Amino acid sequence: MTRLHLSERNLQQAAEFAPLLPAPQAAHLHSCRLCQGRVATYQQLFTAAARLPKPAFDFDLAATVLAQLPRAKPSFPWALSAVAVLVLGVVTAFLTLFGGVLMQIFQGLSTELGTGLGAVAGFIMAGQCLELLARHRQQMRHLSLL
Ligand SMILES: [Zn+2]
Repeated sequence: MTRLHLSERNLQQAAEFAPLLPAPQAAHLHSCRLCQGRVATYQQLFTAAARLPKPAFDFDLAATVLAQLPRAKPSFPWALSAVAVLVLGVVTAFLTLFGGVLMQIFQGLSTELGTGLGAVAGFIMAGQCLELLARHRQQMRHLSLL
């Protein structure tokens, strides 16, 4: 048995959930009426605090916070989509008209060109992923400051 009485932290631990208490402190609590009384007081305090009504503000907290958040841009820019569709149409028309000639040219080249093109595409994709990750982190940092 510990000779010293329990610390405030141990008393609160015992009041919330007694099995969390380390063994020496639990043994002391088992035999000390003073500490048992303090634990009972903490239990009454915790019970009373749990019964208190939730705090209510006299203003709309959510509206106040939302008013200070930056306005989100439209998630799908329609003008950019129209340009993308136009470019895709031009590329499709080009491939339809000159696809046969391009296939003959590429078949004549070695596979090293294909490997090089694949590597370049991989580097571009990795760069785009890193850019997206950096932008995401910047936005998260901005949100955490608000
Ligand atoms: Zn004690």
